[in-house]
Amino acid sequence: MKALVIEDTVTSATLVCHQLRKMGLEPTHAKDGSLGIEAFKASRPDLILLDIIMPGMDGFEVARRIRQLERDGEWTPIIFLTARTSDEDLQRGIEVGGDDYLAKPVSEAVLGAKVRAMQRIAQMRYSLLVLTRKLDDANSELRRLSSVDGLTGIANRREFDETLLREWRRGIRSGRPLSLLVADVDYFKQFNDGYGHQVGDECLKAVARSMQSELKRPSDLLARFGGEEFVVVLPETDIQGAAAVSESMRRAVEAMGITHRHAPVPGVVTVSVGVASLVPDRERRPEALIEAADKALYEAKRGGRNRVTIKMPGIGSAPLPSKAD
Ligand code: GH3
Ligand code: MG
Ligand code: MG
Ligand code: MG
Repeated sequence: MKALVIEDTVTSATLVCHQLRKMGLEPTHAKDGSLGIEAFKASRPDLILLDIIMPGMDGFEVARRIRQLERDGEWTPIIFLTARTSDEDLQRGIEVGGDDYLAKPVSEAVLGAKVRAMQRIAQMRYSLLVLTRKLDDANSELRRLSSVDGLTGIANRREFDETLLREWRRGIRSGRPLSLLVADVDYFKQFNDGYGHQVGDECLKAVARSMQSELKRPSDLLARFGGEEFVVVLPETDIQGAAAVSESMRRAVEAMGITHRHAPVPGVVTVSVGVASLVPDRERRPEALIEAADKALYEAKRGGRNRVTIKMPGIGSAPLPSKAD
């Protein structure tokens, strides 16, 4: 444990340093305020013993400056060393950032007791810091978990809702088109019934992986909408771009070649995809985009499945909530 003694009277400093050394501390001596501050910056001691009356900068000013130099979360115990022990001095010492007071001449027993007390506080403070860090980590893990789908590891419905709203608002400001895909696994009920729920789950994971592999921009988001339905938010993407992504996803799922013997026409697992795109405006809500993509999906199903259908929505109108964009 490093101690810094800032004291202009050499005899007093020598005595205190000697006592500290006996307690197992490593003291450094600075003989005025400015040198003390330099020593603090250079060695970041664990404890400071600070004289009040010194030529030039007094102890109060030194304490105030040291407190300003401390980084976020850093705390160095400061014990004032002084012949002055009036109530006002004590009060002022604590106000400028001191932690305790020691009257000169310093008694070895009192110094020892105070150093131990400061060590104990420092220890508790350190434990608290470790605990806080753990708590922060746990919180960010919770935040991450609350946005992830447990089965597939992609974004969940909640994350999708937030992203869509955020991108909708961004689209209103930028005037750029926002596209949405809704993909649904074809004849998945038969797949589940035929192979069992667990194989069904594995299939959903594989579908999520293959769809994800087709997304290239960091702002694109693939999410599990529920059951065997997936959604993709494509910010700043027009209908041509969205159709291209949809087709590549459809092809990627088909190309996995997961056998589906239980479909009306036996073959492999496929998805149908509905695509919609529009420039967000204040007259509509993001749900309008979901509805349009859903309608397109319905048409893809009706048209025979394993295909992409596009919808350019002339869709219903309900105003956005009046939150500032
Ligand atoms: P369509 O081609 O029209 O989409 O028919 P479908 O059978 O895929 O559609 P439907 O909505 O009738 O069936 C969806 C099935 O998906 C119901 C359920 O058996 C299955 N399913 C939904 N969620 C999960 C899941 O988390 N795990 C598994 N294994 N199956 C699921
Ligand atoms: Mg002095
Ligand atoms: Mg479905
Ligand atoms: Mg389905």
